[in-house]
Amino acid sequence: MTAMYKLFENSPTIEGKGVCKSFGEHQVLHDIDFCVYTSEVVCLIGPSGSGKSTLLRCINFLENYTGGRIYVNGRLMGYAEAPDGTLEPLKEREVLEMRKDIGMVFQHFNLWPHLTALRNITEALIMVKRMDRVRARDIGMAMLDKVGLADKFDAYPARLSGGQQQRVAIARALAMEPRIMLFDEPTSALDPELVDEVLQVMKSLAREGMTMLVVTHEMGFAAEVADRVFFLDEGRLVEQGPSRQILSNPDSFRIRKFLGSWSRRVSASAC
Ligand code: ADP
Ligand code: MG
Repeated sequence: MTAMYKLFENSPTIEGKGVCKSFGEHQVLHDIDFCVYTSEVVCLIGPSGSGKSTLLRCINFLENYTGGRIYVNGRLMGYAEAPDGTLEPLKEREVLEMRKDIGMVFQHFNLWPHLTALRNITEALIMVKRMDRVRARDIGMAMLDKVGLADKFDAYPARLSGGQQQRVAIARALAMEPRIMLFDEPTSALDPELVDEVLQVMKSLAREGMTMLVVTHEMGFAAEVADRVFFLDEGRLVEQGPSRQILSNPDSFRIRKFLGSWSRRVSASAC
């Protein structure tokens, strides 16, 4: 469905205006303008160290951006803006409230090793959402079913493959009913034969209309599922556009070089 460029006329779910981020003297994001629209799937690609994780972490305010503005569902993320334009950091409680709309899935699944698959999901529902155990269990089972793992509800992470652990991590994020899902290289730590089962879950989420921003090196996934692709290089958003255009007919030399080195790496690893 997403191979064709959809027309998004709704207001952006995530909007960045002139986003900058510095760690001390080191500026890693430079003046980034972008939008992700409701139900849109955007893949964020770029070389290692280009700032992809930092941008994702600024969106849910795991990192405080140091310039510009990020709006999530129309609300300024992480700050309150005074009439004179200065930004005051929100209280932690307010940030947590805003973050409820955003699910995040990391390269390393970060499951609790001492909890079963089901309890990894229900724990946050009970502790953060103050849900009663029966309802949390129902939701947990429904989410495990959604990622095809209902039969593994009582398995501990050590008994699950990497692909299954990542699917539990996705189920855990979905249980919180986010309106946006951020993925940071969700398949990079997986053995190649386990990548597809995770991508399939992500594809079905995209089909259901979830708004998704996905850092990935899976160019096949980007070509098939993404509506648009953003290319980040040295902290700058150097190109963005419909996935077909960016991946098969990019404007800039830098992205052509990047895509060329990836296809060489993929064909070498396939030998
Ligand atoms: P990518 O995800 O594209 O590989 P990152 O966002 O992880 O890139 O990193 C971008 C740059 O920011 C790198 O130069 C990295 O060293 C730097 N960086 C990331 N996190 C921190 C941090 N917590 N403190 C200092 N520098 C950081
Ligand atoms: Mg990264």
